[in-house]
Amino acid sequence: MKAEELKEKLMRNKKTGWVGLQEEEKNKIFSYCEQYMQFMNNSKTEREVVKNAKTLAEQKGFQDISTKQTLQPGDRIYWDNRGKSIYLAIIGKEAIENGVKIVGAHADSPRLDLKPNPLYEEEGLAYFKTHYYGGIKKYQWTTIPLAMHGVIVKTNGEKIEINIGEQEEDPIFTITDLLPHLAAEQMERKLKEGIKGEDLNLLIGSIPYEENVAEAVKLNILAMLHEKYGITEVDFTSSEIELVPAFRAKSAGFDKSMVAAYGQDDKVCAYTALTALLEQDIPNKTAVCILSDKEEIGSMGNTGMESHVFDTFLSEILNKLGVNTPNLLEKVFCNSQMLSADVDAAYDPIYASVYEKNNSGYLGRGIGLNKYTGARGKSGASDANAEFVAQIRHIFEEANIKYEVAELGRVDIGGGGTIAYILANKGVDVIDCGVPVLSMHAPYEVTSKFDIYEAYKAYYAFWRA
Ligand code: MN
Ligand code: MN
Repeated sequence: MKAEELKEKLMRNKKTGWVGLQEEEKNKIFSYCEQYMQFMNNSKTEREVVKNAKTLAEQKGFQDISTKQTLQPGDRIYWDNRGKSIYLAIIGKEAIENGVKIVGAHADSPRLDLKPNPLYEEEGLAYFKTHYYGGIKKYQWTTIPLAMHGVIVKTNGEKIEINIGEQEEDPIFTITDLLPHLAAEQMERKLKEGIKGEDLNLLIGSIPYEENVAEAVKLNILAMLHEKYGITEVDFTSSEIELVPAFRAKSAGFDKSMVAAYGQDDKVCAYTALTALLEQDIPNKTAVCILSDKEEIGSMGNTGMESHVFDTFLSEILNKLGVNTPNLLEKVFCNSQMLSADVDAAYDPIYASVYEKNNSGYLGRGIGLNKYTGARGKSGASDANAEFVAQIRHIFEEANIKYEVAELGRVDIGGGGTIAYILANKGVDVIDCGVPVLSMHAPYEVTSKFDIYEAYKAYYAFWRA
């Protein structure tokens, strides 16, 4: 056998997915990603993801599980958990005791939240104080256009939706930074201290209500907010307002091969998982999709994956199928399989020293599998069993899906985790499986269109198998 042939047969394929792609397939990738970018522009927060996911699901026949008395194979249902996370399912043909197939992504992304008492004035300028959410490099969040998304809930229960900075005619907001001429001291600081948490104050106005009144600019802002929304300063204490980049999702590069967008961790997996579920016919095993909240801050709280709301959703399915018995839920978990659909750090040649070339995810080489996450000596890792990895490889290879198996960076350099361990602790076979991202957690993250479409195909094939 010739060396080239033998190489082809025996060695791992490290080619980019763009090579040898049929024109028709390329067109499918590009048109799918147009839809994806549109979704991203309308879904910058977990609340917006859930709202839009619900709308798309309802168009495809999904119903709120609370409206169903009984369930049969083929039924399409969801549980909206407080508008911040959502669980969807299609009841399969096989007995549910044999387990379900879960694809779980998260809908929250790193951002700046408003503090409960955000508004103040200093020397004729009004500001909102912020508290950052998730792991960010703070300097990246200054001098960029920010939009304000969220809700303010009044004591009478009235909920006001805020969305400012996305329309052409809207103002945007921004956080200032020091001019280089006066930044000598700042520039000597460590990068992580260059901008401090309490420096992330959003500039929101500069016109006073009237002359010779203390805090007149703050007053003017409150007067405007009162006129528009009927709120007073204290109403901010019952609000959840997030500052997110006002950038639009865009194709990136001369060849338009990539997507630049805010919040691709993990909305890229949320969207690909969701659309893959919506396209399913009646699966053999019950297909379940999780779009979770609070992953970026440890999955705590009643909308995070550590909560028991998801278990309750599955229990409701067992009840309404009329099959529930004591401890059946625990048994279902032990027989279940899951792709933890979360993004992977793509190899960045500019910062090559933190990656290990043989075990990195690369842009354009398909969906990334992480057998384990964790840090140092695999501490805190959810490590997929070899038997399960083999089954997933089999599914992907049968469906002609390009995948690569990677770790997050060099040993002892970094580490991280997803929601994988939470389901693994219940007995589910889980592997991390997502799209590689450049500039992860930055206001503008980059992915490959090839990988996005491959993720969609991979989640589809997993449920279908
Ligand atoms: Mn993530
Ligand atoms: Mn993340």
